[in-house]
Amino acid sequence: MLTYRNFIDGQWVESISSRTINNVNPANTDDVLGVVRQATRDEARAAVDAAQAAFRDWKTTAAPTRGRIVNLAARLMEDHKEELAQLLTREEGKTIAESRGELQRSINVAEFCAGESRRMNGETIQSELPSNFAYTIKQPLGVVACITPWNFPVAIPIWKIAPALVAGNTVVFKPASLTPATAVRIVEIFEEAGIPKGVLNLVLGSGSDVGDEILNHPAVKAISFTGSTETGIRLYEQVSRRGARVQCEMGGKNPVVVLEDADLELAVESTAQGAFGSSGQRCTATSRVIILDQVADEFVARLATRAKSMRIGSGADPTTEMGPSVDEGQFNTVLKYIDIAREDGAELVCGGARASGDGLDKGYFVQPTLFDHVTPEMRIAREEVFGPVLSVLRVKDFDEAIQTANDSDFGLSSSIFSNDAVRIFRFVDEIETGMTHINSPTTGGEAHIPFGGIKATGIGDREQGSTALDFYTELKVVYVDYTGRKREGNLY
Ligand code: ADP
Repeated sequence: MLTYRNFIDGQWVESISSRTINNVNPANTDDVLGVVRQATRDEARAAVDAAQAAFRDWKTTAAPTRGRIVNLAARLMEDHKEELAQLLTREEGKTIAESRGELQRSINVAEFCAGESRRMNGETIQSELPSNFAYTIKQPLGVVACITPWNFPVAIPIWKIAPALVAGNTVVFKPASLTPATAVRIVEIFEEAGIPKGVLNLVLGSGSDVGDEILNHPAVKAISFTGSTETGIRLYEQVSRRGARVQCEMGGKNPVVVLEDADLELAVESTAQGAFGSSGQRCTATSRVIILDQVADEFVARLATRAKSMRIGSGADPTTEMGPSVDEGQFNTVLKYIDIAREDGAELVCGGARASGDGLDKGYFVQPTLFDHVTPEMRIAREEVFGPVLSVLRVKDFDEAIQTANDSDFGLSSSIFSNDAVRIFRFVDEIETGMTHINSPTTGGEAHIPFGGIKATGIGDREQGSTALDFYTELKVVYVDYTGRKREGNLY
C-alpha cells in the first residue's frame, strides 16, 4: 500500500509516526488510495526550520525568476491535467468534469501569479518638499503557512502557494487530512519545476497537532487558511495573539434572490448547479433561495423536477452529475441537518435521505434535497451544511428579499435573477456579500478576479486577482532627500 511522505528541505521523508489514516475513495470505500502517517510535531517544526533557512536565498532571487518556476509548474499541471483530474475525482469524489474545471482554474491561477512576478511594482510619490520624493517597495514576509481544506484540494493550495512563492516567501503547506494524494502531486510538480530545497515544504497531519505546531511557531509570519468558520476563528484568535498575519476564508450561506420577472428556467438551472454541483461542498454553494411569493410555486416545482433528475454516482463516470459527500463524517453531518430542518418545521419537497441502489451502496451519496417554507430563524437557513441541501424562503417583496438575504452571519457570495436593472443594481449596492452574481450561479470565479467574503466569512486580504499578492507582501516606504541640506520648517 502506498504511504504518502512529507516533503521537507527538498527530501521526501516518511514520517516516524505510527498514527495512520487511510485515504479512501468516497464513491467506493473498498477503494483505498494509500495511507497517511500523521506527521509529528517535530516533523512540522523541521519543515518550518527548512523554510526559514531557505528564505534568504529565495527572497534575493529575482521575482521574474521565481515566477518562471511557478509558470513551469503551470505547464506541468497542464501536461498532467487528465491524470490529476482523475486522481482528484478518486480522492475527493467530485465529478470528472468538475475536476477538470478545478485543474484548469489551478493552471490559470499559477499562470496569472507567474505574470505578477513581473509586476511587483511600488509607486513613486511626490513630496511636499522640493528635491524630495518617496517610493514604495513590496517585500516578502518570510515563512508562510498554507492550511487548506479538502473540497478544492488542488485549486486552493495553488491559489495560496503560487502567490506566496512569487512574492518571495518560503512555504509550509499543510493540506486537509482527507486529500493527501493531490497535495503530494502538487508538490511533486513544483519539485519538477525546479523549486529550490526548503522553499516549499509539505507536512501531512492533523490540524490539531501539526497545524497547531505550525501556527504557534514564531518563524511563521503569516497563515493563509481556508476551512470551517469554527477552525478559522480559533486559528485567528491564536495567531493574532502573537502578532502574525492571518487570512481566513471560511463558511458561506449563499443566497439566490429570484424576482417575479426572472427567467425562471435560467434561475432553476443555475440554482441547481450552484446548490448540487460538487455535492454542495463549495464555500460558494447556493444554500438559500429567496423568492417572491408570486413565482415561488412554479419555481419550486421546476427545481424539484430538476433535483430528482440528477444522475448521482461515481464522479469517474462521465455521465454523473453529482458525486458523494467526501467522507462518513461529512455524510452524517448532511443527514443530521436534514433531520434538524424537518424537526424545525421545514417542508421537505424532495430528497432527504441517503441515495442508494445501483453502484451507490459503498459510497457516501446523499439525494439532492429541497426544503420549502423555510423561515429565517431555522437552523437550516442559518448554518452551513456543506452538502446538497437547499432551502427556499418565500418573501412578499424586493425589500424583504434583500433583508432576508442579509440576515446571515456569513457574507461570501450571492446571486440575483431578474431583468430589472433598477432592482438589480439596488441589490448590488445593498447585498452584504464579498461577491455577487447577476443572472448566474453563486459559484465560480476566475483566476484574475479577486475572491473572498465579508462578515463571518472572511478575515484579511482578498485572494487571487489583483489582490493575490497583498497578503504575502509587506510594503516598505522609502523617503529620498536629494537637497543635500539640513531640513528647515515642516519638521513634523
Ligand atoms: P474542512 O472540514 O474544510 O477540512 P477544517 O476547518 O476542519 O475544514 O480544516 C481546514 C484545514 O485546517 C485542514 O487542513 C485542517 O487539518 C486544518 N486544521 C484543523 N484544525 C486546526 C487547528 N487547530 N490548527 C491548525 N489547522 C487546523
